[in-house]
Amino acid sequence: MTPQPNPEAGAAVKAADRAHVFHSWSAQDLIDPLAVAGAEGSYFWDYDGKRYLDFTSGLVFTNIGYQHPKVVAAIQEQAATMTTFAPAFAVEARSEAARLIAERTPGDLDKIFFTNGGADAVEHAVRMARLHTGRPKVLSAYRSYHGGTQQAINITGDPRRWASDGAAAGVVHFWAPFLYRSRFYAETEEQETARALEHLETTIAFEGPGTVAAIILETVPGTAGIMVPPPGYLAGVREICDRHGIVFILDEVMAGFGRTGEWFAADLFGVVPDLMTFAKGVNSGYVPLGGVAICERIADTFGKRPYPGGLTYSGHPLACAAAVATINVMAQEGVVENARQLGAGLLGPALADLAARHPSVGEVRGTGMFWALELVKDRETREPLVPYNATGEANAPMAAFTAAARQHGLWPFVNMNRTHVVPPCNVTEAELKEGLAALDAALSVADGYT
Ligand code: PMP
Repeated sequence: MTPQPNPEAGAAVKAADRAHVFHSWSAQDLIDPLAVAGAEGSYFWDYDGKRYLDFTSGLVFTNIGYQHPKVVAAIQEQAATMTTFAPAFAVEARSEAARLIAERTPGDLDKIFFTNGGADAVEHAVRMARLHTGRPKVLSAYRSYHGGTQQAINITGDPRRWASDGAAAGVVHFWAPFLYRSRFYAETEEQETARALEHLETTIAFEGPGTVAAIILETVPGTAGIMVPPPGYLAGVREICDRHGIVFILDEVMAGFGRTGEWFAADLFGVVPDLMTFAKGVNSGYVPLGGVAICERIADTFGKRPYPGGLTYSGHPLACAAAVATINVMAQEGVVENARQLGAGLLGPALADLAARHPSVGEVRGTGMFWALELVKDRETREPLVPYNATGEANAPMAAFTAAARQHGLWPFVNMNRTHVVPPCNVTEAELKEGLAALDAALSVADGYT
């Protein structure tokens, strides 16, 4: 579709937004949201007709891009036949979505509890673990994001939890592995894995193993920096959980549904959790949907005794119809394979090449369509290009990087001192090359701050 400029319409949309929309995570007077006129595939455009290549996949959810015609048609068909229905009934779109998801989740994660998104999936996974074990505490990583609702934000490690920490009950944070900024003075992946596992074991010993209901980890931590865990770490956590009777929850809200070049990131490591949360890519974010995939043992806990939790829109037919269509599109069009092959064959090597040429890039890491560039002032000291959680003037280098990328037609994902390269999983080779050229230009601006 060719964008038609219509600046007056854009101005009206913007004016109403500024008058009445209260935006997430923002100082309301300091933001300037772009008015978006349309989107298709890997692109969106504004009311001036300027097109952007979306290397953010929205908030890392449009795994099959915008407006996929088969998913749009499935939503229209579902709307025409059964737009909504209460959760206590068996409904075709819901049961088919659950079947397709269960078929793809690892191990015996065969029962699906549907939610409206990722945070409520995390809330319910934690509640299931507490009820299953009868224990109060949850352990989670400092470098993590698990959602914006009360328990999910408490479990989250990033600074957005600070304001809610006073309400945190039974949440204990620990350090998960991240070799580039190792908390364990490790120099090799083997050391990082061994020391991170020893640290987790010690944390559990001091907390009291009989008090820990669950350990929750993002399989590949996303928002906090796309840190693919080193070999052996997740298998080690699995073993620790088994030994202490702790429920192992993997949060695949961002990493799931093709993002890492596998259906689920757990498949990269051959690890099967007891509970797995998902959202975003399950239907490319076309209609809000998330859920928890539950192993047989925990599902059985609620065989004869009711599970005390639910949502009015659990398994909403429109959202589930979108999930069925999305999963079928991903299977039929080889979307997971595309992410894996273009990630390993094109994007990964091209980002490594950018890193070699740009002094502002301290590290490139990732897999599939899930990459981060860590920007630094100094490669030797690894001092971040902007301080931790920088705002205003302190964040000027990242603001300049962002502006340069946009000027070159690329919409980049920026978080603290990093840019995440997370295009749709069905992105084409030509689109990747176009985005990489814009990234090259924007990194030259970042180089000016080193
Ligand atoms: N868990 C992870 C790993 C996430 O990345 C996110 C969202 N970025 C969430 C949970 C929360 O999902 P939602 O915003 O849909 O509530």
